[in-house]
Amino acid sequence: MSSDPVLPPFRSGAISDPTLPVPDFPRQEQQAPGLAQKMDPLPDHGETSYKGSGRLKGKRALITGGDSGIGAAAAIAFAREGADVAINFLPEEQPDADRVIAAIKAEGRTAVAIPGDLREEAFCKELVESAASQLGGLDVLVNNAGRQQFCHKLEDLTTEDFDATMKTNVYAPFWVTKAALAHMGEGGSIIITSSVQAFKPAAHLFDYAQSKAANVAFAQSLAKQLAPRGIRVNAVCPGPYWTALQISGGQPPEAAAEHGSSQPIGRPGQPVEIAPIYVLLASDEASYITGEYFGSVGGSGL
Ligand code: NAD
Ligand code: MG
Repeated sequence: MSSDPVLPPFRSGAISDPTLPVPDFPRQEQQAPGLAQKMDPLPDHGETSYKGSGRLKGKRALITGGDSGIGAAAAIAFAREGADVAINFLPEEQPDADRVIAAIKAEGRTAVAIPGDLREEAFCKELVESAASQLGGLDVLVNNAGRQQFCHKLEDLTTEDFDATMKTNVYAPFWVTKAALAHMGEGGSIIITSSVQAFKPAAHLFDYAQSKAANVAFAQSLAKQLAPRGIRVNAVCPGPYWTALQISGGQPPEAAAEHGSSQPIGRPGQPVEIAPIYVLLASDEASYITGEYFGSVGGSGL
């Protein structure tokens, strides 16, 4: 697309790659959920940097929050690895979703866009039915959508906020996964995006950190239930990644400008840098990997 802003240059693969942006980032704020394409610098979702090698050939995947950030990187990587991909996102994120859909189609794969709000159980069911019918089945489910809004004082955290975080981060994976199981069988893979916050909860992310701890237990409990059915379940726990979540109320703006700077690597991860974990967990190569969680935190560990 000629009107697109210039994407980050090709990634060398080194952790100190000088082409990857290092804080101090321009101070910026968007209203949640935000648009990745309005961020400065632009996040690298792998548009030009991810190379596939057929590891997910013929798989059919549904990814929530697949319009931007980590979900977009997983969607593009899955398509480059030979998968057909459906993405869910909020209607106001259509401009980001359009780019991901174009990237999937450019690989010659089926791309399905299903906007809607995961805080509604009825929509979660419709999403799964629509994805499974348009993809012709479902092999991989990535529960990745998330809500993160910082709040310094418990007294200021409203019931509405707490409820929205839990609906998005805890209820939606439950509802979506429950519906998806009707379509998944032997060889299936369910992945949930948790966070380093599950293990190192920050003071200002009281509700979010709890929800992300729940995501780890989701994977560990469900893996035990589903192993006899041949379906694996794992969690991914990112550290600081450069995504719209962080500049749309996930952190105070001054902290977002320094996102990742306290890590030994000295910068945030770019979404493409975590995509290989999702590819591995989705692939048949991971046949003995279930009930686990995987970090990518920038050097300080989980
Ligand atoms: P992102 O903003 O690009 O992606 C989050 C997505 O969640 C949005 O694009 C949106 O489509 C979706 N979403 C939010 N509320 C929704 C709703 N009610 N209905 C439907 N979709 C909804 O940011 P990201 O950082 O890529 O986030 C992806 C996941 O990674 C989240 O679960 C987040 O908690 C987790 N995570 C991110 C970081 C980080 O530093 N960026 C660190 C740890 C964990
Ligand atoms: Mg988004």
